[in-house]
Amino acid sequence: MKIDNIGAIAVDLDGTIVALPQENGEYTWIYDLCAQYGVPCEDAREAYDRAKGCGFGSRTMILELARMEYLRSGHQQLMFRQAFHAWVRDALIVFDDAREAIAQWMREGIPVYVVTTGDRQFQQFKLELAGISVPSGHVLTVLRDEYKTDEVEELASRHPGTIVVVDDKASVLDLIRDANIPASLETIQIVRHDGKYASQEARHDHLVVTALTDIQISTKGAAA
Ligand SMILES: [Mg+2]
Repeated sequence: MKIDNIGAIAVDLDGTIVALPQENGEYTWIYDLCAQYGVPCEDAREAYDRAKGCGFGSRTMILELARMEYLRSGHQQLMFRQAFHAWVRDALIVFDDAREAIAQWMREGIPVYVVTTGDRQFQQFKLELAGISVPSGHVLTVLRDEYKTDEVEELASRHPGTIVVVDDKASVLDLIRDANIPASLETIQIVRHDGKYASQEARHDHLVVTALTDIQISTKGAAA
């Protein structure tokens, strides 16, 4: 596909640029890691669910576990943090098409933003591991998927032209469409093999791609 008159592109991170291995839709590695610190699986699951609500990452996971009386000492927390990051460093899957497409868009002078749900530090860490660097201020981290809509609206107010939004969750793209943002929008779902949300049914019509390199965009025709 070719989209001209681009104002900016907002690209999701998890499941779009990078992914962590999952089993039956669950990040069991987190529970395995917690088990090494004496946290039973059900408590690890509860901590994970709570951490997700306040931006998942090692920081929020440690906060939740400490609140549940695990990882009591600073030393244990440090060890957990290091083990968590070491695991992510080894296991992170980086999609080559994402790296290639983002580099290409940036070479063409297109404002590229990463709009992602999670803990700011953790999301930055994964982007660094992926070898992707967007300009400072272009990584927009939100605590809940619902808040991505606000970020897209903000981008639309600052960048005349079409705002392209790419996400692996149809639900996120649907919410953005629901918001009736007063701007030209193009919502694109990236469907990856074994993607955690690949089977989500969209309520709105979104373009669908299987690689970010399939998205051909240019600023040609964009208002100054
Ligand atoms: Mg995602």
